[in-house]
Amino acid sequence: MEPSLPDLRSLSRGEMDGLVARLGEKPYRARQIFRWLHQKGAATLDEMSDLPAALRERLGAELRLDVLARAEERRSVDGTIKWTWRTQDGKLIESVYMPEPGRKTLCVSTQAGCAVGCTFCMTGTMGLSRNLTAGEIVDQVSRVNRRLLELGEGAPPRPLTNLVFMGMGEPLHNYANVKAALDVLLSEDGPNFSNRHVTVSTSGIVPEMRRFGEETDVKLAVSLNATTDEARSALMPLNRRWPLGELLAACRDFPMKRGRRITFEYVLLGGVNDSDEDAVRLSRLVKGIPAKVNLIPYNENPGLGFRAPDPARVQAFQDRLVAASVTAVVRRNRGSDIAAACGQLAAEGGPGDPRRRERAGTATLTGRGSAG
Ligand code: SAH
Ligand code: SF4
Repeated sequence: MEPSLPDLRSLSRGEMDGLVARLGEKPYRARQIFRWLHQKGAATLDEMSDLPAALRERLGAELRLDVLARAEERRSVDGTIKWTWRTQDGKLIESVYMPEPGRKTLCVSTQAGCAVGCTFCMTGTMGLSRNLTAGEIVDQVSRVNRRLLELGEGAPPRPLTNLVFMGMGEPLHNYANVKAALDVLLSEDGPNFSNRHVTVSTSGIVPEMRRFGEETDVKLAVSLNATTDEARSALMPLNRRWPLGELLAACRDFPMKRGRRITFEYVLLGGVNDSDEDAVRLSRLVKGIPAKVNLIPYNENPGLGFRAPDPARVQAFQDRLVAASVTAVVRRNRGSDIAAACGQLAAEGGPGDPRRRERAGTATLTGRGSAG
């Protein structure tokens, strides 16, 4: 396949109409192709059995059709499943499935690696390899829906009910492709997810936040992770560019849909940001913002120098927030036995990746995980 050709799977519903018109085909073909790609999760043009062979040939000649290859599947004792996918050009990315009663959530990746470089996050240590295309973002969902049906997990047409953009990468650093992927994922002729069931998490790319709120209607999560600029800059270098004051101003300004709240994620790092003083400062920072705080006890990544918080500390921290009238939940640790928990995702470029070789002494590809 010619890499310079446009990717059929990345086209929005409207772009598909345009393509079909340009090819001189009947308009209904656009919906047909779109459904094959995004509702049935077709991996090849040949699967699209009710399209005329001549049309399939033209599509194949003019566009490429990227599909993620399953490199690995690991299942946790708690029902979590982590997939490592190989992109057409050999990048490894991950998605994590988390079943709960009444909801089946997939955590998707938006980039191979991440440029933000948070010091506690495994993905952050990789640096950015490249943005994922819209097609690669939505194909994680297609591949998983198909696989879950095979595994007898959930009912057709799509077992997944919820999506969180909390895998590898910073979604707002890949704004255009994330936006295009959302258009597909929320489309009626696509997987048709409800905007209330899709959450995009950002480390705080302030200039893109407002635009995101204006151009999409999905939910926003913001990774706060510290309560002073000094501490946050040490954990998240981007805080030097957009310090807490600016970030929280952007949250206050966020064009929020009626009845919605911003989720603030707060990774609890033992002895670093888990004191009672932090809890009190956190409650002051979010004051006046319709908010919910997600406390995420740190999943340890060997070599990064941070430790998980003491469980009693987690409880005390939550109690402090609740006492200050802040809604705060502790996110259960999921899939930690398969390195699928938040911030453990760090698939690397494959056996030839120099970074991988450098660190090969300490871990295997899957012995570490991603952000999620
Ligand atoms: N880049 C985006 C989305 C992916 S990270 C962001 O940072 O928001 C998803 C979440 O995982 C973030 O809130 C991040 O702070 C958290 N995280 C990263 N590493 C972690 C770890 N080792 N343990 C627990 N949470 C972690
Ligand atoms: Fe990137 Fe999010 Fe990890 Fe920070 S926490 S390095 S923004 S993936």
